[in-house]
Amino acid sequence: AKQRGRNLYQFYTQDLNSRTYRHLVMENQLVKALAKDEFDLHYQPQISLRNGQVEALEALVRWHHPEKGLQNPAHFIPLAEDTGIIEGLGQWVLRRVCQDILRLRQAGIELPRMAINLSARQFRQVDLVERYTHILSEYGISPSHIELELTESTIMQDIKVAVDIFEQLHQLGFRLAVDDFGTGYSSLNNLKHFPIHSLKIDRSFVSDTPHDRDDTAIVTAIVAMAKSLGLEVVAEGVENEDQLNFLKKLDCELIQGYYYSKPLPFDEVCQYLMAPDR
Ligand code: C2E
Ligand code: CA
Ligand code: CA
Ligand code: CA
Repeated sequence: AKQRGRNLYQFYTQDLNSRTYRHLVMENQLVKALAKDEFDLHYQPQISLRNGQVEALEALVRWHHPEKGLQNPAHFIPLAEDTGIIEGLGQWVLRRVCQDILRLRQAGIELPRMAINLSARQFRQVDLVERYTHILSEYGISPSHIELELTESTIMQDIKVAVDIFEQLHQLGFRLAVDDFGTGYSSLNNLKHFPIHSLKIDRSFVSDTPHDRDDTAIVTAIVAMAKSLGLEVVAEGVENEDQLNFLKKLDCELIQGYYYSKPLPFDEVCQYLMAPDR
């Protein structure tokens, strides 16, 4: 038993060491990536079904890894979150969004708003409100042009604290959206305490509409309830015409998904916005 215990111990330490090592390497790379400006934003349009206009762009971070090429957030956001690097990265994201708003203005494009994602750790960052308002004022941009997307689970972690932060952000004029709605355990009843503007229905529910009966019923119910609470609804992950027509019938306001456009680099999203035949 002693021998087995020791083997087990070696097994664990080796495993831990290699994992820790890989994490350390990547953590180090993430810190450097910020300094070396290896991050980038891609933008995905949210289209209004009322008038066909682009209502907002959601900023989605990418990492141009020097060896591995373009990395999606799933590959680095969790570690950035664990290590706290997400706080610096989040500020970088807001700065870049501000710069891009100004670049769009120069090109004669003024969108109602830009949406950015905030992870749980960013949301609970003590100086979040000060830092974000400071960055916006540096660029002379009003918070009303910025929508902050928070997942249901982030909000529900500590409702009292979350309501307090939401109130502060709301007072300053930020728009607030609940991301991945339907995947957490909150009810719309919980959400009525929050000054939120919109709900984003998670892609996992939208994907199988209108063919899957359960998902179709869920999406129908979410849209109806959101409307009764006066919230705007965004359907995520809309990929085809059947889904689009179904959502049109429900009178869902906004659509985001590959059907209209994948997330695009800044220059390409500019072309998308300027295309006359869109
Ligand atoms: P999310 O906020 O739910 O973003 C939507 C994700 O769905 C994006 O993946 C987008 O590319 C993808 N998507 C959009 N439309 C479709 C579609 O029609 N079909 C399919 N299959 N996928 C679609 P992405 O860019 O890989 O981002 C993944 C997640 O990473 C985001 O999920 C968000 O939680 C996180 N993330 C991205 N950027 C940031 C950031 O700047 N800060 C933080 N904290 N998290 C971020
Ligand atoms: Ca989002
Ligand atoms: Ca989402
Ligand atoms: Ca998601």
